[in-house]
Amino acid sequence: MSAPIELNLLRSIKTGKGLIKLITNLKKSRRENKLGSKKRLALSKKQRELVLEKTNRRCHICGIELDINNFQADHVMSHSAGGMHLENNYLPSCSTCNNYRWHYSSEEIQIILKLGVWAKTKITNDPVFGVEMANEFVKYEMSVRKRKRARQNKKTE
Ligand SMILES: [Zn+2]
Repeated sequence: MSAPIELNLLRSIKTGKGLIKLITNLKKSRRENKLGSKKRLALSKKQRELVLEKTNRRCHICGIELDINNFQADHVMSHSAGGMHLENNYLPSCSTCNNYRWHYSSEEIQIILKLGVWAKTKITNDPVFGVEMANEFVKYEMSVRKRKRARQNKKTE
């Protein structure tokens, strides 16, 4: 049995520059493998119910409770990588998880999760770099919220 792909990829990384190169190459590879857009078919209410029941009405990523009117059908294999718009390729997710998962490859998601857990630990344990990172992150989040509000206001005008 082979080791999980993430371990093989990260084991070869010895420097920050190496990590940046890996992330850049994974992004490049995802874009090169991107398939042309196929028409997206909306799931029927019955199909959405079946997708939602796969996880007992919880987001398959964070586990938050979902309801039929408030969940997104997330492609297990991303649409851009050739994942089909079929019931068996969907799992229910909340909008936050689905939006952040985007169409990253499995390898990219694993690196992002590791970076996120590492950053969270730094924020709570490192009084200098962690606090600086927390401030930058909050600044970023506030700008995202501001842009989102501006978009919503534009829609209601
Ligand atoms: Zn979620």
